[in-house]
Amino acid sequence: MLTGYSIAILGGDARQLEVIRRLSELDATLHLIGFDQLDHGFTGAKQEALSDVDPKELDAMILPVPGTNLQGDIDTIFSNQSIQLTKEWLEQTPEHCLLFTGITNNYLTNVTQETNRTLIPLFDRNDVAIYNSIPTVEGTIMMAIQHTDFTIHSSTILVLGLGRVGMSVARTFASLGAKVKVGARKSEDLARIYEMGLESFSIKDLKQYSHDCDIMINTIPAQVVTAAVIQNMPNRTLIIDLASKPGGTDFRYAEKRGIKALLAPGLPGIVAPKTAGSILANVITQVLIEELGERGNE
Ligand code: NAP
Repeated sequence: MLTGYSIAILGGDARQLEVIRRLSELDATLHLIGFDQLDHGFTGAKQEALSDVDPKELDAMILPVPGTNLQGDIDTIFSNQSIQLTKEWLEQTPEHCLLFTGITNNYLTNVTQETNRTLIPLFDRNDVAIYNSIPTVEGTIMMAIQHTDFTIHSSTILVLGLGRVGMSVARTFASLGAKVKVGARKSEDLARIYEMGLESFSIKDLKQYSHDCDIMINTIPAQVVTAAVIQNMPNRTLIIDLASKPGGTDFRYAEKRGIKALLAPGLPGIVAPKTAGSILANVITQVLIEELGERGNE
């Protein structure tokens, strides 16, 4: 239980609604900032402006998955309020106050270092990345279906990268009956791909494989789908780039060649916000109890 915890939730999308629901069930005292256009209320949660919250009372703050921009502004889709996280405000929180975000940037990293507050970028955690790969794969399947006129079954699919997302993508598309080939750079990954019963190739040799490809799914956050790779592709090839912005594809050249290439960020929040929010809520609860202890039984 999170009885006795005071937590501010600042902005965000539909994923935050599940976080709010779960933390409210666990009896935390919640301050909702940037949710004033939300129709339904949550028991034990107060809609407030940031200026109305007393930072000294807070045990934790939960930012949206993208965190802030480089000026400290926080995005919210349930409000027109502008919310800014400043160093002066953060300094007033108690020293033990934890700051959760999905991903961090220079602003957030610096402001938390300067104020000596603990920043927890949830997506840096392996467990979150692996759980999150499940809705990511489902979103990728949705895109593959929406943007092709052939079945996934029997298609040749090149998956680039065998990290947390790449492994889930490769395994799932193979189980749908696709001929999956996976490109990686580490020899242990090539061994793992072989063990999974899939065809492996060194990512350096990608351009030798791209002539036989119905769908290319990139998970590598580096420019790997170059003009030379795209040049060899059949016209029907669809590129789905899952890597974080700006992706790993030469989109300019893909467009010039008439190859459909889609950058597809944030799929979990689009296809399964409830599940994606629940993944975050589970980890936030676990970290809060690990770091600050349970207060309900005190
Ligand atoms: P990850 O576990 O770190 O995997 C990244 C993969 O890319 C690894 O196989 C890594 O190989 C490879 N790689 C990195 N840099 C490379 C380079 N320069 N050349 C060749 N290979 C390289 O990351 P992840 O959790 O799978 O996430 C992959 C990407 O998807 C990230 O950008 C993440 O932000 C994004 N993502 C997107 C969505 C979405 O909805 N679109 C959802 C979740 C994640 P090594 O192990 O050899 O370094």
